[in-house]
Amino acid sequence: METVILEASSPEQIRAAVSRACRFLNRGQIVALPTETVYGLAACAFNPVACASVFEAKQRPAFDPLIVHVLDKTMLNQVAEVPADIADPIDRLVSEFWPGPLTLVLPKKPEVPDIVTAGLDTVAVRCSKHPVFKAVIKEIGAPIAAPSANRFGSISPTSSSAVMSELSERIPMIIDSGACSEGMESTIVRVEASGKTKPFIHILRPGPVTVEMLKKTGKVITGKQLPPVGEKLEAPGQLASHYAPRTPLQLLEKPSDFKPQEGQRYAMLSYRGQPKDGFIDLHPWHEVEILSPGSGKMPEAAVRFFFALRKLDQCGADAIIAEPVPERGVGLAIQDRLRRASAKP
Ligand code: AMP
Ligand code: MG
Repeated sequence: METVILEASSPEQIRAAVSRACRFLNRGQIVALPTETVYGLAACAFNPVACASVFEAKQRPAFDPLIVHVLDKTMLNQVAEVPADIADPIDRLVSEFWPGPLTLVLPKKPEVPDIVTAGLDTVAVRCSKHPVFKAVIKEIGAPIAAPSANRFGSISPTSSSAVMSELSERIPMIIDSGACSEGMESTIVRVEASGKTKPFIHILRPGPVTVEMLKKTGKVITGKQLPPVGEKLEAPGQLASHYAPRTPLQLLEKPSDFKPQEGQRYAMLSYRGQPKDGFIDLHPWHEVEILSPGSGKMPEAAVRFFFALRKLDQCGADAIIAEPVPERGVGLAIQDRLRRASAKP
């Protein structure tokens, strides 16, 4: 199958691309669309056959559920049940962060096909702020299931060319709206009543909506530890090995962890590119990518992260060596992706 890339920058281009994407979706086909986080692979959420094609194109195992995208709170109620004891905090999170990169895990409505939720009785729901994604949901008039548009376990795509290198000839079209503005997948949370004024907010996947941002709504609980491989997971996508380049990646905790071998070429993924608090001077690197040169700004590092990882994966090095990133703000999400990228499958 030929994969067509449609540029969508001007209002006319957006209108044309959106209506073409909707024609595919209404016929039960799947298309890649931009969101503010990463590019998504979209299917009509109420069409189980179309959703099965998403699993097939991504080579995603059936136990790893898809995120469902809605237009607003009204559409949220078509796919999820909001339990009365967390209705207030869910309302607050929705008003504050939607549209935006926050995914809520809630009990699912029976209308959501089991294939979407991998048989779980919960559904993960998000509301993208990307004008193209919003326009598609509006025109379809129903929720869209869309995980990241990459092969399972591989680096998330933050541009149409990255989608192309992951899924070309497996999908009929990609809408190209340039680079994603956040560059990091959504924060996934589950809210639990605590019996006190503030509920628990469990972060199942760290992302652009940070611990600091969620604190005023609830007591935030993060699990920094990787779940053991193979154990039944609360968020099945939180597999120990994920976001992995083909080139082996080592996340260094301290300089002495790096033990170069004769004749091997090493590439460096650095946060600020500064020798005084980083590992840039450790070795004559084959290639270097700096996430946020100079002063180090976390959102910039997040935006560049998957792009830089993909570049180093293609530079011909035998291994990628990554510096740790400070775990503040979206740095928590970057460190999480680095740990998973470095874990052995
Ligand atoms: P992706 O958009 O490719 O990052 O994949 C969607 C991710 O959403 C999955 O890998 C899971 O981590 C998460 N997810 C989807 N549905 C659920 C759910 N019902 N409960 C917990 N996590 C979920
Ligand atoms: Mg993904």
